Amino acid sequence: MGAPPQSSNSTPLNVLIVGAGCAGPVFAQVLTKADPRHKITLVERHHTLRTGGQQLDLKAEGVRIAKGLGILDALKGACVHETGMRFVDNKGKSLMRLGINDSSHQGNSLTNEYEIMRGDMVQVFYEGSIAERKRIDDQGENEGSLTYKFDTTVTEMENSDEGVAVTFSTGQKEYYDLVVGADGQGSRTRRTTFGPDIEAKAFQSIGVHAAYYEIPREFDDNDARIYFGTDSRMVMTRSGDRSKTQIYLFVMNNKERHEKMRVVQKQPLEQVKKAWTEMYDDAGWDCRRFLDGLKTTNDFYTTELAQVHMPKLYSGRVVLLGDAGYCPTPFTGMGTTLSLIGSYVLAGELARHGDDVGAALQAYHENMRQPLKIYQKLPGGGTKFYPSSKLGIKIANVLVWVLSSLQLHRLAQWAIGMVGGNKSEWDMPVYPELNMNVDKEVSEDKKKQ
Ligand SMILES: Cc1cc2nc3c(=O)[nH]c(=O)nc-3n(C[C@H](O)[C@H](O)[C@H](O)COP(=O)(O)OP(=O)(O)OC[C@H]3O[C@@H](n4cnc5c(N)ncnc54)[C@H](O)[C@@H]3O)c2cc1C
Repeated sequence: MGAPPQSSNSTPLNVLIVGAGCAGPVFAQVLTKADPRHKITLVERHHTLRTGGQQLDLKAEGVRIAKGLGILDALKGACVHETGMRFVDNKGKSLMRLGINDSSHQGNSLTNEYEIMRGDMVQVFYEGSIAERKRIDDQGENEGSLTYKFDTTVTEMENSDEGVAVTFSTGQKEYYDLVVGADGQGSRTRRTTFGPDIEAKAFQSIGVHAAYYEIPREFDDNDARIYFGTDSRMVMTRSGDRSKTQIYLFVMNNKERHEKMRVVQKQPLEQVKKAWTEMYDDAGWDCRRFLDGLKTTNDFYTTELAQVHMPKLYSGRVVLLGDAGYCPTPFTGMGTTLSLIGSYVLAGELARHGDDVGAALQAYHENMRQPLKIYQKLPGGGTKFYPSSKLGIKIANVLVWVLSSLQLHRLAQWAIGMVGGNKSEWDMPVYPELNMNVDKEVSEDKKKQ
């Protein structure tokens, strides 16, 4: 083994992670790296890794953590090479074009250095965790383990300040020192641990419905496109260097349509597709052609966008990680980055506090406040100001065009609400206990400021 784990004086933990999306496997890798003696079990309710989903980006501290885990090259290899984004009018004419964001911070453009399909991202994280464990096993470490169990979920938990008695869907029972809920935006772990009152307050809709699907490739270039339609409709297309084009349809802040979609959402798939088709039929641009593709696609996914804001990230020995604890919505582009930050901070605090797991969970909760404050912020202050009328759209388009012509891109981005943030205002903690090389990068970054 390389450097001996610095937390080796403490008792190793028996840890259950619920959910093998982005956060679960990353946390498994960081924790294994910190102390290979931990016994880690990861349960995923799907029968394989769930590799569905559209393009995700990795930014700011997420890139540094991925580098520290040794998986950045694999992520680079999976990039879709999107070259920028254009705002188009209803004839498809480009009004403004923005290039690629530098990956060191949250950034301004939609397109980032690390744009990766969710399935590829999840695969890299999963393989990273497996490779980490294998490296350790190959070096002769015979304590600790990492086990993935698919087609398995938790049916019951008895939580206390000392540990959690868990019953699985397989009927098996086991006692864990810590349960990590990494089961996504609709987390069952969150609902069952914190109860309906906290759940009702924590799950906060941002008043937007979205539909995603893919059609055969549409454009010659690798740019993303955004089109503002009337009546709260917004369309985005993304192709990168792939043979398919991702279509994103949004219903922005519009109470009537929003309520309708809430009802439709619960209906059979064909009804849901029909409702989106009716809504977008007269939206302009190439929407009719995009809707043709909707008839045959088999990867259609629709959801109400919501953020998760928890008053506390843990209760007893159950702790929330990633979207389960702090889903920021795809509008921030920070979901994956936050799941890496959360994994790093949680593992760091566990390593630092040794046997005092309660203190580690409290420190995790406190240390996540600042990154959550910054990265859950919706660009442009939210979706409330989305123009809806024909005149509003026209003014927005003219504004975008004028500012772009004058090369006032930052001002233009502010005007259309895309500015997500400047250089991170968060000092990422350094955990030498994690045996990762992110500390060097943190200090280099500080020197640049
Ligand atoms: C199928 C899918 C498609 C997505 N598409 C997009 C997208 O297009 N754009 C975007 O910005 N974000 C998308 N997301 C969300 C995105 O992956 C997250 O915002 C982010 O990467 C943080 O990851 P996470 O691990 O916290 O959550 P997720 O990536 O959502 O992973 C949660 C995992 O937990 C599993 N799970 C859920 N409930 C249970 C349970 N009870 N027991 C065991 N396992 C459970 C899920 O199957 C999933 O594998 C998608 C998520 C999923 C699951």
